Amino acid sequence: MARLLNYDLHCHSTASDGLLAPAILVERAAGNGVDILALTDHDEISGLAEARARAAEVGLRFVDGVEVSISWGGITIHVVGLNIDPANAQLQQGLQSIRQGRTERAKKMAQDLARVGIPGSLEGAYAYVDNPNLIGRTHFARFLVEKRYVSDVKSAFQHYLVSGKPGYVPHQWATLQDGLAYIKAGGGVAVLAHPGRYKLTRAEMRKFLGEFKDGGGAGIEVVTSSHSAEQFLEYAILAREFGLLASRGSDFHGPGESRIDLGMLPNLAADLKPVWHDW
Ligand code: AMP
Ligand code: MN
Ligand code: MN
Ligand code: MN
Repeated sequence: MARLLNYDLHCHSTASDGLLAPAILVERAAGNGVDILALTDHDEISGLAEARARAAEVGLRFVDGVEVSISWGGITIHVVGLNIDPANAQLQQGLQSIRQGRTERAKKMAQDLARVGIPGSLEGAYAYVDNPNLIGRTHFARFLVEKRYVSDVKSAFQHYLVSGKPGYVPHQWATLQDGLAYIKAGGGVAVLAHPGRYKLTRAEMRKFLGEFKDGGGAGIEVVTSSHSAEQFLEYAILAREFGLLASRGSDFHGPGESRIDLGMLPNLAADLKPVWHDW
């Protein structure tokens, strides 16, 4: 029997909060046996050209992607857009409008950290930023590790930067409808990222999935590094129930920071319809 192709459809480069440059990320994916890779930086597509060029050189199939930040029901939700056209003006403008809020948010985050006796975090976070238009909480987390306020990035997100902790600033991202419209304008397929990470009840998740489908959302990440083995099953059930295409992606951010490396996740259950079924 033919070997299953190794799809990894969610990861980050230095164009957002990943640690590896797009070309290096592609080389690592190829080395790990990934056959088809999507780069999905947060609200940003500036890394795609470099990744695509390197993928052609190393013989890996590349999918243009993005991870769009959305606000829904008072929480932040991430929607991955796959097979987008990076040249689409409406998509570009939409992402630009989401990115704009990040710079202002970062200033407020730094003020809040200063309030609890942590000075210099704005400059400190920017030292980890490669793309000045895209500062995020991960860059602050790395600064907090560097200054030994916490031992690693994971604990930075336990003690800081999350709701109720210092450095957290509530933020309005795109609406679900707008986020889906940007992806649709770019001709992409919208996939709900790491559904197990949201603090939603089952009823709220169902309500979300209904609105997501109504707005044109088509897929859901079933196999992601955020999920336990139990959650692989839980979200496979929801994919079947809602008629959603299933996706697989590591959400890799960098060596030493991510639990699961590129291409190293289990396969999707055989009866699920993969998001790549017609690629
Ligand atoms: P932002 O889009 O700036 O709010 O940052 C979101 C990013 O923070 C996510 O994509 C992750 O990279 C990172 N992040 C959020 N929560 C955690 C966590 N508990 N552990 C590690 N990284 C996290
Ligand atoms: Mn991230
Ligand atoms: Mn995410
Ligand atoms: Mn991600």
